[in-house]
Amino acid sequence: MQLIDTHVHVNFDVFQPDIEAVRSRWQEAGVVRLVHSCVEPSEFKSIQSLANRFPEMSFAVGLHPLDAEKWNQQTAEEIVSLAGCDSKVVAIGETGLDFYKADNKEQQRHAFETQLAIATELNLPVIIHCRNAATEVREVLQKWKQLKGESVRGVMHCWGGSPEETQWFVELDFYISFSGTVTFKSAKQIQESAACVPSDRLLIETDCPFLAPVPKRGERRNEPAYVRYVAEQVAKLRSESLSAIADVTTQNACDLFGLTV
Ligand SMILES: [Zn+2]
Repeated sequence: MQLIDTHVHVNFDVFQPDIEAVRSRWQEAGVVRLVHSCVEPSEFKSIQSLANRFPEMSFAVGLHPLDAEKWNQQTAEEIVSLAGCDSKVVAIGETGLDFYKADNKEQQRHAFETQLAIATELNLPVIIHCRNAATEVREVLQKWKQLKGESVRGVMHCWGGSPEETQWFVELDFYISFSGTVTFKSAKQIQESAACVPSDRLLIETDCPFLAPVPKRGERRNEPAYVRYVAEQVAKLRSESLSAIADVTTQNACDLFGLTV
């Protein structure tokens, strides 16, 4: 069985002491490719060196909406130059909108729209972080589609929306990626969404070190090997086999990010 974890942050300090052991466990779990996400430019070098060290790892470059105050011309140039010259860069992100506690909505929107432009220019997909902002993210993507005549390609990562919101993004040709939150007992809405996403739009991720899935919930650190628990839960919710979910999500990740396995 082959799995792809489409969203990891293993450059964080919490992985420093034992990254090789963590890697052995993802290999044992069948994780054959990983897409390393990026929060802000100071991380570019550390992520790039991890991707050089581990052949199975590709990465994204971008600025997280919660860091939107760091957006400037230099950030944009750094993203463009790294994405343009390193073939291991397979996406722009994570970008998006996080309105949970935001007092900088306009700044977030500007950084998001500019990263959509960069992704389009470089013909790369975007990794979208969306929290308390589904209506606004949809508006931005719809506006973009009208302006350009076609959708940006991308994924709604660590998806937490309702089935109705899920449908909005499926209609915009987006992939929908589920994380450990889909295993949480209280997450009925996320589970309903996971059950209704069309097979050719479905992705899985850990978003590690955050959000360890059941039965590892409560561990201080999530890790890529645990994407298997996400796959098992999605399989259960859709009344499909684990191997069917592994096959379809692996194929989808290859299609979106241009990976081969
Ligand atoms: Zn992330």
